[in-house]
Amino acid sequence: MNYFLFLNHPKGEEVYRVDKEREELLKEHFKRVDTLKTEVVIRGKKYNAIVDYSAFSNLANFDCFKCQDPCCADNPIIYEKITREFILENANEYNKKTKNIDILLENNYSEDEIIDAIENKDCMVPEESVENEISLCTCSFKPNNESILCALHSICLDQNLGAKEIVDIKPIVCSLWPIDIISEEDESVLYITVPDDFTTGFTIEDYYDTPCVNKELSQTATFRRKNPEGFLEDEYVPLIFAYGETLKYSLGEKFYEDVKERLLEENLIFLEELNIKEKQILKK
Ligand code: SF4
Ligand code: SF4
Repeated sequence: MNYFLFLNHPKGEEVYRVDKEREELLKEHFKRVDTLKTEVVIRGKKYNAIVDYSAFSNLANFDCFKCQDPCCADNPIIYEKITREFILENANEYNKKTKNIDILLENNYSEDEIIDAIENKDCMVPEESVENEISLCTCSFKPNNESILCALHSICLDQNLGAKEIVDIKPIVCSLWPIDIISEEDESVLYITVPDDFTTGFTIEDYYDTPCVNKELSQTATFRRKNPEGFLEDEYVPLIFAYGETLKYSLGEKFYEDVKERLLEENLIFLEELNIKEKQILKK
């Protein structure tokens, strides 16, 4: 089995392969919990999915502006053509935020080499500069000395683009993070869940370190010492709402509706919560 969202990771199999022990834990988990069969559409391709749907009623708060977690620490994917084109079209804004073009010029790369890297290199910069002069993910930037944000997302917001465009331009693994999708080798079925107390043995991300899906963690003194602002208790909402727009455009309207309906039927979420207006993907 594979961590489906990481199949195009620049480091390849060492990142996307699920080891046997985790595979067993996943199978056990999906046997034990109630699941929903549906269809998802990812980048235009349809897949059969089995969803650990109750995980989508878990509370979430993507307070990225107040977060100090290094979740943009490395390049998550060999970038898609649409991302590369977006950067070339917005080279000035991209450089203003990330400084990447200036850094490469400072290191004696020519303009042609920089453009060639954006068009063709896995991480959009010359290989030898990855995690060296260009630290963290190529697309990340620091608006101040504390947080790390995504330049792709930020340029989209500056240009008032909508949720669909953001999902199209950003790597899908980033839009959906930390939702986990694990696929059979032949991709005949995708298993979809979220890191929590029950799944953390096999998900690629560690629930216990992830404040946006772990409200209890955000309330601890240890977390507050590092992160005194943000992650307010009453800003946590069911994940299906926190990521509503993102889910529709990343996995398809059918996935979103099927999961939402089932959660409503089982009183795991409530109709009044549908009034939550904030779309976290469009938060500035
Ligand atoms: S850990 Fe969660 S809240 Fe923090 S930057 Fe990453 S997605 Fe945002
Ligand atoms: S969200 Fe943006 S900055 Fe963060 S890992 Fe993804 S592409 Fe890089």
